[in-house]
Amino acid sequence: MQQVVIIGGGHAAAQLCASLAEGNFDGRVTLVSDEDRLPYHRPPLSKTFIKDPAAEPQALRAQAMYDKAGIEVRLGETAVAIDRERREVALASGGRLPYDVLVLATGTRARRLPDVPADTPNVAYLRNAADAERLRSALNEAPSVTVLGGGFIGLEIAATAGQLGKPVAVFEAAPRLLARSVSPEAADHVVKTLRESGVSIYLGATADRFEFEGERVSAVFVGSERHAVDLLVAGIGAVPETTLAEAAGLECANGIVVDDHMRTSDPAIYAIGDCTAFPYSRWGERLRLESVQNANDQARTVAGVLLDQPTPYQALPWFWSDQGALRLQIAGLARPDTERAIRPGTKEGSFSVLHFDGGHLVCIESINAPLDHMAARKLLEQGLQPPREQLLDPAVPLKAHLG
Ligand SMILES: Cc1cc2nc3c(=O)[nH]c(=O)nc-3n(C[C@H](O)[C@H](O)[C@H](O)COP(=O)(O)OP(=O)(O)OC[C@H]3O[C@@H](n4cnc5c(N)ncnc54)[C@H](O)[C@@H]3O)c2cc1C
Repeated sequence: MQQVVIIGGGHAAAQLCASLAEGNFDGRVTLVSDEDRLPYHRPPLSKTFIKDPAAEPQALRAQAMYDKAGIEVRLGETAVAIDRERREVALASGGRLPYDVLVLATGTRARRLPDVPADTPNVAYLRNAADAERLRSALNEAPSVTVLGGGFIGLEIAATAGQLGKPVAVFEAAPRLLARSVSPEAADHVVKTLRESGVSIYLGATADRFEFEGERVSAVFVGSERHAVDLLVAGIGAVPETTLAEAAGLECANGIVVDDHMRTSDPAIYAIGDCTAFPYSRWGERLRLESVQNANDQARTVAGVLLDQPTPYQALPWFWSDQGALRLQIAGLARPDTERAIRPGTKEGSFSVLHFDGGHLVCIESINAPLDHMAARKLLEQGLQPPREQLLDPAVPLKAHLG
């Protein structure tokens, strides 16, 4: 019987288990996660979870699903090495797990502030439920919050802290927020909304020096300007968790390098989710994405291989981020030099940014326009290219163009 070992306890690992269960996979599956709970929904951690003292992480799949499918779930267990010759995974607890197929679903880890010791009590990072529990109690006690980094997670935490009534300051080194992820139009709207809600945002502001009082950070310096700190949240990005893969000699380049079936440079080992650098067929380039969609769809691709129904990974990327009451949703990917046009929304504060590449619609960013987002995903998935003037006409619903 084929033995499949999955390392990781996040979205990708859970989806792979679910897809194998749905396909009645007849091999033996073992999931190894260094977290002490079943894989859970990660996005709420920076949104609802940290403002609700009663919130619990929500499992993606119930224990019953794993039990019914005969999947062994080993929680609180870290995989520390891969022996590719013997096809075994070594565990921190001392055990070894043999495999015929190994799947790495190790995700990312938060990028750390280089000049701040890891155990600094008033500095928070956010990747998992344990981080979120710490952040929630720190937020409760802190008179004010300082966020370093104007990426999605930093801004979501800033918006949530603002909703809790805390004075919040965000420092972003780049001249604008979300520079690598969204258009200037969408980013400007995010800045405006956050500022209106009382969050202070400093752009082109590199916080590069820290003042300590005992073990705690007491201030950050932006140039010669000193900003006092109660609680410092670092949202300065994530790095792919490739430690095991690199030590095992698998090819890695900003992620574990995989082909369009998620196979690594060792044909017995696959990798899925945030930790992969995969070939993006629409651009003919290798990409790494951090999104629930990417984790789930890559997991489905590996399930297809294991269930003898292989299909290459060609899913349309899509993403969402909630910043307080603002919902940003993105379908497709855009390079920075695409031509952009605005489709007005049907209500105040809602609109979409359409990106065209060589005249072709390639990406739609929707602000508080969920119906446009849902239709945009279908349009792009089906490769439909309605006339541009109709796409920009708010009187014509985007879904009217769907076949
Ligand atoms: C706070 C937050 C908010 C987010 N919000 C959104 C959002 O709104 N929309 C969106 O699309 N995406 C969002 N994301 C991103 C999304 O959660 C990730 O893209 C997704 O979780 C990736 O799934 P994954 O399985 O690849 O990795 P993860 O979910 O990160 O799981 C990796 C797992 O592997 C475990 N692991 C790593 N190494 C080992 C080892 N050696 N042994 C055992 N276990 C190991 C880790 O502990 C973890 O459980 C958010 C992420 C965070 C952190």
